[in-house]
Amino acid sequence: EEAAVKHYKKVTVPKKPRNPIDIPKYLEICKPHLSFVVLGHVDAGKSTLMGRLLYDIGAVETGKIRKLKKESESIGKGSFHLAWVMDQTAEERERGVTVSICTSDFETEKSNFTIVDAPGHRDFVPNAIAGVSQADVAVLSIDCGTDAFESGFDLDGQTKEHTILAKSMDVNFIIVAMNKMDSVNWSHERFNDIKQKLGSFFKDLGFREDQIKWVPLSGFSGAGVYKSPYPSEQDWYQGPNLVSTLEEVAHHVGTEAHKDVIDHPFLFSILELINSKKSDEAVVSGRVESGSIQPGEAITIYPSEQSVLVDKILTGREKVQTHIATKGDFVTLKLRQAFPEDIRSGDLGASVDYEISASENFKLQMLTFKMNRPLLPGTPIMLFRGVVEQPARINKLVAIIDKKDPSVIIKNKVRHLASNQAAIVEIELTERKRQIPMLRFDENKHLGRVVLRKDGRTIATGKVLDL
Ligand code: GDP
Repeated sequence: EEAAVKHYKKVTVPKKPRNPIDIPKYLEICKPHLSFVVLGHVDAGKSTLMGRLLYDIGAVETGKIRKLKKESESIGKGSFHLAWVMDQTAEERERGVTVSICTSDFETEKSNFTIVDAPGHRDFVPNAIAGVSQADVAVLSIDCGTDAFESGFDLDGQTKEHTILAKSMDVNFIIVAMNKMDSVNWSHERFNDIKQKLGSFFKDLGFREDQIKWVPLSGFSGAGVYKSPYPSEQDWYQGPNLVSTLEEVAHHVGTEAHKDVIDHPFLFSILELINSKKSDEAVVSGRVESGSIQPGEAITIYPSEQSVLVDKILTGREKVQTHIATKGDFVTLKLRQAFPEDIRSGDLGASVDYEISASENFKLQMLTFKMNRPLLPGTPIMLFRGVVEQPARINKLVAIIDKKDPSVIIKNKVRHLASNQAAIVEIELTERKRQIPMLRFDENKHLGRVVLRKDGRTIATGKVLDL
């Protein structure tokens, strides 16, 4: 028998920041921040592209890149040093019940960026889920090399599954890196051909044209990425390169995020617990999901329900101290009066006057994917929320609803669910030891979103309705 849950000090009265900041004024002057996940088929050039980007922007030390280059040449793979950069700059996240993800920060004159990556298994879907759940937008790398696009884009291709996942998890903006254009001599025809095929797939998924950007580039040579100009063969595209495109999108997303800063509770996803020498200190890194936080304020960590003091906020690659973090920011928090032994990745932090319920049953509005077999009540599944996964069970199929208008009930007595159906179901978390704190979709769009998997396949995504 497990020992009963420990009871920690929980306060509900907010504490004032040590040096209060005028938030509206801050929002006016701060650089926008954008987090993005890089998706695409294995070998589509994702690692090379991110390595190139970080290298050209100056986020990697020259000594490091020289060493990697030497190593890759010694094994006869001269280009690999770029692909390794990501792994070198990324901070590995601890493994637990959570799927590990890591982040790399970089900054340009106009914006701050966080690349969200799932090291080791870039093409492993649970990690893609974790990555997507932490990203504002997706960069989709497409290998434009002859025939490569077709093989990556067949019916069950990763490109497709990744894009479907992203869309179902509210990633509403895609930057298509039309990669390896050097291998087809920057052929405009090839570019258009792929753009047309992919474009109609995006449209079917519900993306609008203004939610997709197409950038021809070569991660390998760097043309179209940051500072390297296009070669003379490419005389048909005058649009912005990848980094300028990211900056445009950051401006747009950043402006939108500001709406969820003032008058919204502070909500924080903990991605990692970092070792600390002080006994009452917990150092956690993660993402601000809504609202804002300043040093001196108190927050409560769930599920352990311990109220802690936010002593310091650190940001960026250099981990410099900052006086505020707002929605969308990836930061490290130094917390005092904490019990780090009961904090894990996947935990949530929240304003002390905001209550997060610990419920093992909830109602889910979900959309099934393509499945081999119909889904029956009682089916055990794996539930993913952000970086956490938990065993769960579909206890009851409540109703089949209209896919376009969820308020319309199509059928009430449901025996099973088929592929591509929208439904209301009741879910029970079957892991009793340590439950993940749940939020409703109307409380937070990111945190109120779950993905269901069974036998290694994604079977549905859903919004948490009632707890
Ligand atoms: P990932 O699996 O998506 O991360 O792909 P990698 O970055 O490891 O690249 C896969 C292969 O494609 C490697 O052999 C790279 O050298 C090659 N590659 C990557 N980018 C380019 C490019 O821009 N042009 C060409 N011609 N080859 C590339």
